[in-house]
Amino acid sequence: MSRNFLNDQTIDKLHDKCAVCGVYGVEEAAKLVYLCLFALQHRGQEGSGIASYDGKNIIFDKGQGLVNEIFKTENLERLKGTLAIGHNRYSTIGESHLKNVQPIVADINLGQIALSHNGNLVNGYELKRELVEKGAIFTSTADSEVLIHLMAHEGGKRHPLKEAIINAIGQLRGAFTIVLMTKDELIGIRDVYGFRPLVLGSLKNGFVLASETVALDLIDAKFIREISPGELIIIGKNGIESIFPFEREEPKFCVFEYIYFARPDSFIFNNFVYDVRKLFGKKLAYQDEVEADIVIPVPDSGIIAALGYAEASGIPMEMGIIRNHYIGRTFIEPTNAIRHFGVKLKLNAIKSIIKDKSIIVVDDSIVRGTTSRKIVKMLKNTGAKKVHMRISSPPVMFPCLYGIDTPNRKELIAATHSIEEIRKYLGADTLEYLKLENLFSCVNSKQFCEACFTGKYPIL
Ligand code: SF4
Repeated sequence: MSRNFLNDQTIDKLHDKCAVCGVYGVEEAAKLVYLCLFALQHRGQEGSGIASYDGKNIIFDKGQGLVNEIFKTENLERLKGTLAIGHNRYSTIGESHLKNVQPIVADINLGQIALSHNGNLVNGYELKRELVEKGAIFTSTADSEVLIHLMAHEGGKRHPLKEAIINAIGQLRGAFTIVLMTKDELIGIRDVYGFRPLVLGSLKNGFVLASETVALDLIDAKFIREISPGELIIIGKNGIESIFPFEREEPKFCVFEYIYFARPDSFIFNNFVYDVRKLFGKKLAYQDEVEADIVIPVPDSGIIAALGYAEASGIPMEMGIIRNHYIGRTFIEPTNAIRHFGVKLKLNAIKSIIKDKSIIVVDDSIVRGTTSRKIVKMLKNTGAKKVHMRISSPPVMFPCLYGIDTPNRKELIAATHSIEEIRKYLGADTLEYLKLENLFSCVNSKQFCEACFTGKYPIL
């Protein structure tokens, strides 16, 4: 019998479900989209796809796995044209089918379109059921397909596509950042709450849309601005058209993008992720009184917050845990044949740093607690005198409805256990989370979603 080690490790983190991007007006647009997807790999590792307009049709290629495993020179050579979009997908176990990998390419009454979506529709199931009752046929289980069907029904007379998009989007509830292409236009849409990021950049003769600025950096695109919540942007031969066809709402940016999801070298929601993440670590130190010899991060997720913690507390930081980056996505641990290696396959403690020390261990979050427990055990086995677990976010107590893969509520350890019970389960000497008010002293609390901590869902 064997177990997929990756699943054991990844299910103990929250996961963003997707990355989106698009390139307009540049030769070999698909190759630039490929690079953007590569830069956005952290937002989805289960599958990727690229669609491009080759002068006659929108063609596409997609597959399961990492971007550089799916796309080879031959695939990219075939995806010709100056307009292309792409998508990285993360999916929950059991949903990892090729049919769910985007972009979705469809021929509708408005012409051929391709669509990439990041987020989750709160009313996706309801809309899908209504459409199926009217005779619609769905080819995937992704709720993004709903939008294509709605658009096919909603075209107007004067500006068929624009009106179709506006009318269709008007029926959606939830989180959606969408990049869409026709044969001659690149379109970006962000829901009125702006849960997921979307940025606009320029290239010499063209434009780029991407989930995060790291994608722009890689292809030397110049950052212009973020697409605003509720904005519909159409990039075509006449330049950029920006409209706000929906009723404005107070934004509800996902604060977890800062805590964990987004790359620290990205600029989103008006700030550098690195700066905000480090500030969370500082705030965690300011609220803490524990004495310790060293601060160590859980790599890679706790590194930036640990830097902030160390700086604010004056306690030196050491890389006491080293991560093996080469484990890959599908490491199969031969449990029966040898023995259970657990967390040590991915993380290993350095004895000379850990032994006989009182240690503050910083990580970004605790979901089920299974990995944190193994880390504490590993540190104790390595000779740590004391292990103080510090988490740079408040306890995750509620599932996310807006495009983040969370286990159901029963499996979230903080939903069913007190902090003291969690501490005991982890085997840590002390445990502290960043207080909600301290998290929100780093960002404008009114503009951020806090539902996974408080259950205050901005949209149901
Ligand atoms: S519930 Fe949490 S993870 Fe989901 S959008 Fe809100 S802050 Fe982000």
